[in-house]
Amino acid sequence: MRDWMQTFLVFCVLLCWSIMPVNPQLLGKLEHSQKVLETPPLEHPTPAKLPSRNPTRSFWIDSSPDANPLARQGSQDPLPSKADVCIIGAGITGVGVAYHLIELLNNASLSVKHPLSIVILEARDFCSGATGRNGGHLTPAAFLEFAQRQALFDTVEAIKSYKLEQHTASLLVQIIEENGWASDVDLVEGGHINLLFTEKEAENAHKDFDTARQAQLNLDGVEWLSKEELEEEYGAPYSGFREPGNNVWPLKLVTKLYQHAQAHAGQYASLSLHTRTPVTAVTHETTDNSSTSTVVTNRGSISCSRVVHATNAYASYLLPFLAGPDGIIPTRGQVIATRASVGIDQIKIPSWSGNEGFAYWFPRPVKHDTEKPLIIIGGGREAVGPQYELYVDDDSETHPLVGKVLREFLPSIFEGKYDPLSEPEMEWTGIMGFTRTGDPFVGSVTDLLVADPERELYRKQYIAAGYAGHGMPRAFGCAEVLAQMILAEISDKEWKEPDWLPQRYLTWNRRVE
Ligand SMILES: Cc1cc2nc3c(=O)[nH]c(=O)nc-3n(C[C@H](O)[C@H](O)[C@H](O)COP(=O)(O)OP(=O)(O)OC[C@H]3O[C@@H](n4cnc5c(N)ncnc54)[C@H](O)[C@@H]3O)c2cc1C
Repeated sequence: MRDWMQTFLVFCVLLCWSIMPVNPQLLGKLEHSQKVLETPPLEHPTPAKLPSRNPTRSFWIDSSPDANPLARQGSQDPLPSKADVCIIGAGITGVGVAYHLIELLNNASLSVKHPLSIVILEARDFCSGATGRNGGHLTPAAFLEFAQRQALFDTVEAIKSYKLEQHTASLLVQIIEENGWASDVDLVEGGHINLLFTEKEAENAHKDFDTARQAQLNLDGVEWLSKEELEEEYGAPYSGFREPGNNVWPLKLVTKLYQHAQAHAGQYASLSLHTRTPVTAVTHETTDNSSTSTVVTNRGSISCSRVVHATNAYASYLLPFLAGPDGIIPTRGQVIATRASVGIDQIKIPSWSGNEGFAYWFPRPVKHDTEKPLIIIGGGREAVGPQYELYVDDDSETHPLVGKVLREFLPSIFEGKYDPLSEPEMEWTGIMGFTRTGDPFVGSVTDLLVADPERELYRKQYIAAGYAGHGMPRAFGCAEVLAQMILAEISDKEWKEPDWLPQRYLTWNRRVE
């Protein structure tokens, strides 16, 4: 009875949202935070297109010639005719699924009868989607939005949102440190400062903190900072709080993860990568004793026992029922790399966000204390309301108004530390996958659908996608969940849900029909 009442209350709240007019303030403020999304209604939502062929050049991919050694790996090699697991997309999710499959097999917790053949298919160069074009923050949210989540779901679900992020970020940091990759991937564990620009923002943040503390969420490392403290230490005339946080070179991290997975495939698995191989369709056939998917590409087809959709913003291209406000909404984010006018001794190392998560930035590591650091700063979508770049899936262009906001942001906050007239050294866009609640879809694709004939078309297909601009501390954990599910199914064992996984991420709780 109690469960039914809770479900009913959640339904009422969600129904109210879906009929409420669009709130442009809320809509834009999502990039680094994960506030509930108010999407403009679309009469005829169209599926995403394939990733554009000539994307803008990002710092992570294009600033040095050796940044992407796997860029074109396997682009000319013949495709295998069949594979056990075909992963579509070579970002942190796709590579994460391959990594975890191999780790789980090596740990012998789940055994398979023959070596598992795993193939990753990528439309463009390796890791050239959001993971290769993002802001570089690997910062698990500490408590922001706790009160809202607790009211919407329940305390356990609210706590799991943060547990998943803490699990994912600390696992990645642990892998980096155990393998000695910290300097190769530019890991900086410098903490993250959130600036609170308005009284309302500060009030909400304190409410989230107090509610989270009452619910016994782990708040280790959170520290409130007064306006005076922030002004004296950093020259920022706002109050705020510090939380544990890291930044990395995301492409280099994903490259290491791929190389590690391949080197450790051993006797239990084989792993191959085919870049520049867009998947144009996935078909499914079931006979009396077998069930296979065919992954169709411009270079041939592969018969796959299981398919993983790790295509994030582009998921609706192959899964058209995910187009529209209840599915995954491609949303364009923009980033610049701009040089500070003073040395790192005055900028210091933490990463930052401000303006309710609209803006996020951090200085790149430097070789000596007086070097003027390059700052990676993203955000600025508030400049292009009312759509805020929602439903834009083209990363071959930048938006001049967003670029203007990004150029003006740091000089307006840190007086004397940035030249308002200096031009960025690089500017690029990438496509995020937004969802109505900010939560990703994780699990089997069939569970998203109700009607039987359609469910049949997607058997043995899986998805982890829709991280709403906050994927670095979530995608690798969601990939781990898919790897566990796939191996449990193959070895005929029951999948055991990790205690850090929010129930509401699971596809069977997220039907879109
Ligand atoms: C501008 C920007 C800033 C961001 N900043 C941050 C940040 O600072 N911190 C943070 O936590 N998150 C940030 N994010 C979000 C984060 O980058 C993503 O959530 C995360 O990288 C998603 O990883 P993914 O592997 O699921 O998707 P992606 O990295 O996008 O990978 C999907 C891959 O699938 C490929 N693909 C798509 N369709 C097909 C097809 N049909 N056939 C073959 N391949 C296909 C694409 O080419 C792409 O390489 C940002 C995103 C953007 C765009």
